[in-house]
Amino acid sequence: MSYTLPEFLAHAVALENEAADRYLELADMMEAHRNDEVAALFRDMVRFSQMHRDEIQARVGAIELPKLRSWEYRWSSPPEMGGDEAFDYMIEPWHALRYARENEVRAMEYYSSVGMQSSDPEVKRLAAEFASEEAEHVDALDKWLARTSRPSATFDADPDIPPRG
Ligand code: ZN
Repeated sequence: MSYTLPEFLAHAVALENEAADRYLELADMMEAHRNDEVAALFRDMVRFSQMHRDEIQARVGAIELPKLRSWEYRWSSPPEMGGDEAFDYMIEPWHALRYARENEVRAMEYYSSVGMQSSDPEVKRLAAEFASEEAEHVDALDKWLARTSRPSATFDADPDIPPRG
């Protein structure tokens, strides 16, 4: 798919909004489970997503953006779940971090594929820039995952789910 600049910007704004909403939910959930450290991480991610969205909005300026279909930018549910029960079930920090990581990878892959396929130089430039920001988010989540203990009781029987994509 080769996006025009307005199409690309519309996706980027929607994607960052979606990320901010999901991170806010994750932060509240971690707080409810008294994991203030991981809650603080997710609150930072909320701020980063909002800042990024605001920068993109500034770039949008007076450009009129097209409407999008929700599947084009929404976060995907955890692989072992689906539907709204996901958040009740996914109470451990490890799961929340994995879920966030998967969606950051998805965003990164989205931006880099747009960058590779677009013929518009401005779309290419922005997409490459956004992809590298998402790569930094993935790295940050990886660091947290490395020092977060994986819940063993419920998940012993589960094969390790490799990152999708
Ligand atoms: Zn991100």
